Order: sequence, then structure tokens, then C-alpha cells
Amino acid sequence: MTINQSGWRPEMTGAQSQAPATSTGNKALMLEEPLIFEIGDETTTGVDLSAQTTGAASRLGGLARSAPIGLPGLSEPETVRHYTRLSRQNYAIDLGLFPLGSCTMKHNPRLNERMARLPGFADVHPLQPVDTVQGALGVINELAFWLMELTGMHGVAMSPKAGAHGELCGILCIKAALEKRGEGQRKVILVPESAHGTNPATAAFAGFTVENIPATTEGRVDTDALEARLGPDVAGVMITNPNTCGLFERDMKRISDAVHAVGGYVYCDGANFNAIVGRVRPGDLGIDAMHINLHKTFSTPHGGGGPGSGPTVLSEALSPFGPLPFTARYQDGHIGLIEEETAGEDHPDSFGRMTAFHGQMGMFTRALTYILSHGADGLRQVAEDAVLNANYVLRSLEGTLDAPFAHSGPCMHEALFSDDGLPDGFSTLDIAKGLIDEGFHPMTVYFPLVVHGAMLVEPTETESKAALDQFIAALRSVAERAKAADASLKTAPHFAPRARLDETAAARKPVLVWKERTPTAQAAE
Ligand SMILES: *Cc1c(COP(=O)(O)O)cnc(C)c1O
Repeated sequence: MTINQSGWRPEMTGAQSQAPATSTGNKALMLEEPLIFEIGDETTTGVDLSAQTTGAASRLGGLARSAPIGLPGLSEPETVRHYTRLSRQNYAIDLGLFPLGSCTMKHNPRLNERMARLPGFADVHPLQPVDTVQGALGVINELAFWLMELTGMHGVAMSPKAGAHGELCGILCIKAALEKRGEGQRKVILVPESAHGTNPATAAFAGFTVENIPATTEGRVDTDALEARLGPDVAGVMITNPNTCGLFERDMKRISDAVHAVGGYVYCDGANFNAIVGRVRPGDLGIDAMHINLHKTFSTPHGGGGPGSGPTVLSEALSPFGPLPFTARYQDGHIGLIEEETAGEDHPDSFGRMTAFHGQMGMFTRALTYILSHGADGLRQVAEDAVLNANYVLRSLEGTLDAPFAHSGPCMHEALFSDDGLPDGFSTLDIAKGLIDEGFHPMTVYFPLVVHGAMLVEPTETESKAALDQFIAALRSVAERAKAADASLKTAPHFAPRARLDETAAARKPVLVWKERTPTAQAAE
């Protein structure tokens, strides 16, 4: 496929494409698919059970179902087609470049999937005796080692199940450490404007008061403002580095030293570790706790809500407070699991438990496979190529889109643009919707909040130059249509299964329960 650099655009008349509607609603291979409730009926089933032998007494007692269950039934082929059709309406990293900033949507090597599906990892049960799962525990233990090695940190909690969950883990460690010191009165967590939204949410959830620290015109933390606010009521800071403006916080060491000097702790949001893995060890920057999104930096298919894994690396000061359970390798090579029963001697200050069991085994296996197959040189190259690709996007769109921090020097793994320069009536949303027609998932929009009409593009290292050029050409074409006040862009997307939705109504009056449609309702829609 090639994109005409001069700006190919669909012929539109107002909101409507001139293409005739089909009788099915299908558009060639893009198939319409009703909800499962609309196609299934209770009498159909995809399962062939033999008839109940007469005479056998029911063992359900009074619990036998007395009325139909009311679930839609489909035959097996109908079921397969339903979910396959739905899956084709979704955009995926296996279909094309997925520039969603702050998400690190990169190719997931299939080798990882092979390893994660090995029965010794995929089919084990968390309550199996540890002697029968030594291999799986070995994977957790070895991954823990490499995460500490890559971050230069002293300990790691493996059980948190997402980035935000890892943040909570780190903040609970900080809380436990303060309480142990008898300084539970420290209630304030400082969060810069350029931090990810989960940071203030986590601090508030853990019972702290959040105070904002402004960003400089460069897009970095205002270090002077931060230092001026430090005091005996401050429990710590939460800093996203690289930050959500796609910039490295160069003052990180100075900030850590200042926070430590007043008795606080430093939390670093490490979701953007992909930009610095193999090049920077957060431990060297004085960080006390940092989560790593295995599902971002260390590959795992994610998006659409899961699965995730957010191990949290801890400094020497915070390690004693980390959650249970965790693995330990004994001198004879045996791997044990430290749980409540044994923790008393080995880990008396743990703040407790974050999850029922050990964490996400599938993600651990994928991440360790990824780390070992890349090696130290490969991981370093990941960071370098991710940063190179983002800078290529940033510079290629110079003159097309406003880049508010381009003057701050090279970006890290994300290129940030704003809606400055778009004509009246045209916004970031129109550009995002136009990109859908071009066959791309839109970038992250309206985040970070420090930039008006933000567009955050994260290409990742797994895209080739040809793929980047294609994306850049598409984005340029859409941006130029916006600048030319092309009215057809206001109603994009035109080629998606659904056109422009009323997002305000969807947010204000969400319809969350399926109701059988009446014929009149159908006609009205
Ligand atoms: C993705 C992300 C998070 C949250 O991670 P989840 O796994 O979605 O909970 C936090 N901070 C930053 C900077 C992120 O990009």
C-alpha cells in the first residue's frame, strides 16, 4: 500500500460518502455484527449433551432452575463468526502502527507467546506445593533479578498487576516506612503537572494529600518550585520520568537529594522505561520506588483492558516494607516462597499483601523471554531506536503541526504536538478521527493536560522507517485538510463501522444496559 504524499482524500459531499449503502450494512469485508443478544435465541446451543438418563434422581435439590436462563444461544459456527467479526472491528498492533502515546504499543515477539504457553508455566496452579513448581518460581525469581539489575535497585515486588497497582505498592511502602519512623504525620505527596494522571489518583487513594508542582516552559518539573515546597509535612514526590511531555527530567538526581534531605521519599513512575532501558539506572538517580509496566516495556499484548503486570522496584530503604509473597533462592538452589507463615523472621515489616497470589505468570514468562532474547545490547538498542523513531516523527512534522516543546531539544520516546495553528472550528479531535479513515489508530489526544489540544505520538522501536513514513504522510495529509478547513473532516471517520459519535451524549447519558429494540426505536436510529 502506498499513500500519495500530495494528500489523497476521499471524495465527500458533506457528511455523506457517495458510495451507495448496501442492503446488509456490510462494507465489503467489513461486516456488520449485531449484539449477541440480537442474534442468539435460547433454544440454540453449540454443545451436544446426551439426553438425561431417565430415572436418575436430580442432585440439585431445590436449586434446580425453574425458569429459562435468558441467555442467547448460538451454534458453534455462529459463535465463532460472532467473535471473529467483532475482533475484526478492532484495531491491533498486529494490523498496523499503533501510535498511542504513553502506552508503548509495540510488536510482541511470538517467541514470548511460545514460552508463556509451555504447560509448566501456563497450567500451574498458585496453590501447588512449591516443590512441584520450582521452574515457574525460578522464572519469577530470575525476572526479579534482571529487573533489579536493569534499574540498579535493591528489591522488587513482583505481585502488582498493572502500572497503577505498582504505584499503589510503592506508595504503601512509603507509608509503612514513614509509620515505622513515627512520622505518619507526613501527609503531602507532591506531583508535578507533567505526571501521569494515575499518580495523583494513587496518592489520594492511599490517603495522602496531593499538591501540584508546576511545569516550566520547557515542559519539565519546575525544580525551584518543588524545592521551595519541601518540608516536614511532605511524605514524598511522584515523578514520571521520562515525563508525559516526552522529555527526560534532567534534574532527577537533584530532586531526589533535596527530597531525601527533608526526610521524604521519591516515587518514579517508570511506565516510560522503554525510552531509557539499558541506558539509565533509576537507582543511580536516587529513586526509592518505581513500577515497571511489563506490558509496555517488556512486551505483552495489551490494550483493551489487559492483561498487565507492574512489578515495583524498591530502594534499600523501602525494600523491608515490600508486599508478600515473594520468592527467595536458597543456597542449595531451591526456590522458596516467603509468605505470612515465614515472613515473621525474614520480612517483619511488610505492609501486607496486594494480590491473592504471586502475580501474572504469563507476563513474567513473556518479559523474561523478551529480556533474555534481547540481551543487554538489544535492550539498550530498544531505548535508542524508540527515541530515534519519536524524534524522526517530531522533526518530520515540523511546519505541519505545532510542537510546543520542540525547542527543549530532542524528545524521548514520544513526540508531543498541540492544536495551535488549526483554524477556528477544527480541533485535535478532527485530526484523530481523520486518522481513523486513513487506517491508523489515533494517537493519545488531550493528554498531557499541560498542552492545549495535545496529540502524543509514541511510535516505538518496532516500526520500520517505511512504516513511520507512511504514518507521517497520513498525519500530514489529515493536518493539512484541517488547516484548509476541509468540512468533510468534521464528520470523519467516514469509512469506519461507525461514523462520528456524539461523545458528549455518550459520556453524559451512557446506555449501559442492553434493551430489546422496538421496531420504532430501530426506525428512529
Ligand atoms: C500506562 C501508564 C500508567 C498506568 O499503567 P497501567 O498498567 O495502565 O495501570 C502509569 N503511568 C504512565 C506514565 C503510563 O504510561
